Amino acid sequence: MGNTNRNSPDGKTGFRPESLMMSHGYNAALSEGAIKPPVFLTSTFTFPSAQAGADFFDRFSGRKPVPQGESEGLIYSRFNHPNMEIAEDRLALLEQADTAAVFASGMAAISAVFLTFLRPGDVLIYSTPLYGGTETLIRNILPQWGVRLLEIASHDMSGQLKPTLARASELGHVAMVYLESPANPTNVQVDFEAVQREVLHATATDQRRALIVCDNTLLGPVFSSPLRFGVDLCVYSLTKYVGGHSDLIAGSVAGETSLLQQVRKTRSAFGSQLDPHTCWMICRSLETLTIRMQRAAASGSKVAAWLVDNPYVPVTLFHPEYAQGEQKQLYEKQCSGPGSTFSFTVPGGRAQAFAIIDQLCLIKSAVSLGGTESLVCHPASTTHSGVAPAQREASGVSEGLIRLSVGLEHPDDLIADLGHAFAHVFGPARVA
Ligand code: PLP
Repeated sequence: MGNTNRNSPDGKTGFRPESLMMSHGYNAALSEGAIKPPVFLTSTFTFPSAQAGADFFDRFSGRKPVPQGESEGLIYSRFNHPNMEIAEDRLALLEQADTAAVFASGMAAISAVFLTFLRPGDVLIYSTPLYGGTETLIRNILPQWGVRLLEIASHDMSGQLKPTLARASELGHVAMVYLESPANPTNVQVDFEAVQREVLHATATDQRRALIVCDNTLLGPVFSSPLRFGVDLCVYSLTKYVGGHSDLIAGSVAGETSLLQQVRKTRSAFGSQLDPHTCWMICRSLETLTIRMQRAAASGSKVAAWLVDNPYVPVTLFHPEYAQGEQKQLYEKQCSGPGSTFSFTVPGGRAQAFAIIDQLCLIKSAVSLGGTESLVCHPASTTHSGVAPAQREASGVSEGLIRLSVGLEHPDDLIADLGHAFAHVFGPARVA
């Protein structure tokens, strides 16, 4: 805790990140030997001297560098606190990023990135679909600040980014390309390296390059590392897999120190930091993140295989392992596992989708994803209901689309639950 007191300095110990999730960033000797960090329920920190207080403020605000071997210094829990520092160090290690910053929610993290890097007159290019809340923020709020928008369907990104960047430069400075890959709820992948190539190509030598930001909530940090492929910042809803137990709301941003310094200034000014207790819960969850995501992904693959071959009704499946063509190649290049959130469509639109959801018993009907329990939702009427119907349909969020987040139940029980619901809605199984 404190950036100088780590027992596993910076991930260069040779141990894998998952092996360091129990210890990284925490020095037990500073807390009576407690094996787990205490929750530091304090709003402020005593300074060893008046000069130290002045130094801490100078360091925190970037007026003076942090001297070699010293820490930035703890000031006030809106700016920094030990639980936040431990959580951030561990998230950065998992993401293989310079640094990370945690926020009161995923939307607070995404908002902080927009507040930090977009100015009136700038152009934001974004992929669709995005999580519905992000789309609402982009479409309904950003234009009120004078930000100009250009959208590209995720599946068209490779072909459309070049002409869109050309068009965008006539509107204003292209400050950001915002992506979600795979997209919630369609699992469409965006080619990160191609995005970086086009952005570099479109940037004149005297211009600031557009930042590439990706929401990595669905597969990261275990199955996807967009920073390795040219993305500048990864944003997260930690509420999902990272928190993983459906018992907290949190978000994060990870990337280069120089970018994160600016994001942290926004966080401190707007007060969207994460409280000590939730930071502690995040650290608790990080200890099991890898095994939770691996087990959920294995179960998700079994459920997906059942859906494809189910004896009741043909479904269209949006699971990474069933992607075709370019999407399949991108999945193989950019991801090391499919995750456990995916969608499928049933014939009969909203009515049949609702009928199935209402028949499920083990799989609970709720928004959110990435928790220990499996959840089902109908994005068009819930998470994406704020997006205009035509835009929703165009980005693949149709009325018959059902999203599953597979959790840690036995996969055969999840399949039995789905089988019962399908039999009820679509009648007896067809004889093979
Ligand atoms: N990003 C994605 C992909 C999400 O699914 C969500 C929420 O569902 C968010 C961001 C927003 O996160 P939060 O609810 O933690 O603010």
